[in-house]
Amino acid sequence: MSLHQLVETQRQYYKTGEPTKLSHRREQLLKLRKILKEDHDTLTEGVYKDLRRDKRTTFGLEVGNAIVEIDYMLENLEEWSKPVYAEKTLTTALDTPMIYKEAKGVVLLISPWNYPVSMVVLPLIPIIAAGNTVIIKPSEISAHTSEALDTLFSKNFDRKFLAVVQGGVQETTELLKERFDHIIYTGATTVGRIVMSAAAKHLTPVTLELGGKCPVVIESDADIETSAKRVAWGKWLNCGQTCLAPDYIITTAALKPRVVAGLRKAIIDFYGTEIKASKDYSRIIGQRHFDRIKSLLDRTNATVLFKNGEPDRDDLFIPPVILDAKPEDVFMEDEIFGPILPIITVSGFDEAIEFIRDGEKPLAAYLFTRDQKKIQRFLNETSSGGVTINDVLMHITVDTIPFGGVGNSGMGRYRGKFGFDTFTHEKAVLKRGFFGESLLDARYPPQSDAKFKQL
Ligand code: NAD
Repeated sequence: MSLHQLVETQRQYYKTGEPTKLSHRREQLLKLRKILKEDHDTLTEGVYKDLRRDKRTTFGLEVGNAIVEIDYMLENLEEWSKPVYAEKTLTTALDTPMIYKEAKGVVLLISPWNYPVSMVVLPLIPIIAAGNTVIIKPSEISAHTSEALDTLFSKNFDRKFLAVVQGGVQETTELLKERFDHIIYTGATTVGRIVMSAAAKHLTPVTLELGGKCPVVIESDADIETSAKRVAWGKWLNCGQTCLAPDYIITTAALKPRVVAGLRKAIIDFYGTEIKASKDYSRIIGQRHFDRIKSLLDRTNATVLFKNGEPDRDDLFIPPVILDAKPEDVFMEDEIFGPILPIITVSGFDEAIEFIRDGEKPLAAYLFTRDQKKIQRFLNETSSGGVTINDVLMHITVDTIPFGGVGNSGMGRYRGKFGFDTFTHEKAVLKRGFFGESLLDARYPPQSDAKFKQL
């Protein structure tokens, strides 16, 4: 079946009304839940082959939270699908204004390689819950996981409702020529632009979950050892290939030695003294990304504050590296997406805020402090997709707050009800009866001064 035929088949199926039935949505979510519960080993094995990430870690990061999200969705599905009765205005006092929930139709979901299970499943849950059909284009770069997802989904779902299309740029480009009712894309900002221009041709709404340089500000009143430990976890998890990973630290010269000591201790505690041998330390996804990071390491002028081991292309290993960097350093140009952590030195909190404000809006920003005034200023004066105070990454785990970017880090949001709403058209409806016709007299022609006074 050609891609065009696939999209048309899904559209015809959507038009039957079947996918929008609550019973169908529930059934499909339960199927997805069953796959995650029973076949997680196939998925975590795929991720292991792609990223050499410990399977238990993958379960915690990518599978367990998706099961929780499905349960949350199932619990609320009926309530969120109901029409919402809206406040009446004076002129609609006799009517019923409401927001009617309608599925969007056929959705395209394009996902990246770094969290190859959850970046498919987390958006998929609200897509199904809202009553849409879906075509999934997983990343060709995480080939093992994409194959596992394809096999499991093809076995369990009808392609007229949920289909996986494997392939790379060429297949995605072909898919993007088709008309969808919504596209959600997770990946690099440059490709986000391509997706958005393709969508514009059909006036298709897009949700773009992109990247950015997520800053971490560490203040002297924070618990420095705990802060460093938390940053180290979020940075070196998945070898730095996390959209929400701390990209760089901003701190003062006085605090820097304590921060570095804390990071060093955490790295050794997590991965031992010979990091390359640690089963908990992931690998770079492929040689292209390895070469990109290695070339930055070759070109940087920053002072190395910590490093454990040497890059090994055959093993796709890049060690954790901490750098004392200047703002002009090559590592400060783009999102690093690897295990290198530059530290930028500033004179104090004002300069830290200024530094963040001078850059593109990141997907997340982090602040470690006990000072409530600084927290307030950070929230007021910096802009980012999300914020976690005194930890990193964790705001994505809360499904009662939205997840998404702003500016260069993306647009739109999902998780919990925010995801359900993203894939739902909120139709404005006004129901009116046949009574009260005299109240409408003034709107009907012919116009007169007497009628005008009534308006
Ligand atoms: P990737 O290379 O796997 O690309 C993502 C998807 O885009 C893939 O399915 C790929 O086939 C497709 N694609 C790539 N080039 C294309 C092109 N020219 N035209 C059409 N489609 C194309 O992943 P990536 O982009 O390297 O992902 C890493 C980026 O994703 C990082 O910037 C990271 O911060 C971001 N990211 C963001 C989130 C988030 O939730 N905001 C989550 C994970 C990753």
